[in-house]
Amino acid sequence: MEEKTPIKIYLTGAGGNVFVCSRCGLRKELDAKRIELARKGARIRCKCGEVYQLELRRCYRKEARLPARYKVEGKALAGDVLIEDISMSGVSFRLISEPKFKAGDILKLAFCLDDPKKTEIKLEAEVRHIAGNKVGAEFTDLYYHHKDLGFYLMP
Ligand SMILES: [Zn+2]
Repeated sequence: MEEKTPIKIYLTGAGGNVFVCSRCGLRKELDAKRIELARKGARIRCKCGEVYQLELRRCYRKEARLPARYKVEGKALAGDVLIEDISMSGVSFRLISEPKFKAGDILKLAFCLDDPKKTEIKLEAEVRHIAGNKVGAEFTDLYYHHKDLGFYLMP
């Protein structure tokens, strides 16, 4: 059988990592044991035959000034924020108006990168902390399949 080039996926290091196969869409929760194996370079083969290699290196964090729109999951609440830094694991942003959410809420964020393509990014993040008008949120999924975001975050 020919050896496939593994697709790299980036782990945030936080618990409850989920990875979604970009070929067949299978969702898989990665437990601590699996992540430990990955740390040693193990690959994951999906049922469909796609091969993944986990990258556990520290996520690069990039300073930004990206206007974003959020919606609070399960509620008809929305607002505008300014993303001030972003990584593959999460974002920090500044509130422009009163927060309509609290820590633990899931936000659906939509924004455009300031790359030449003005790539539109949509993802979900869980609010971790709110301090004044500054908010930290962690992505709820592994957004490795956002290739454009990965490219944008390259040092
Ligand atoms: Zn698959």
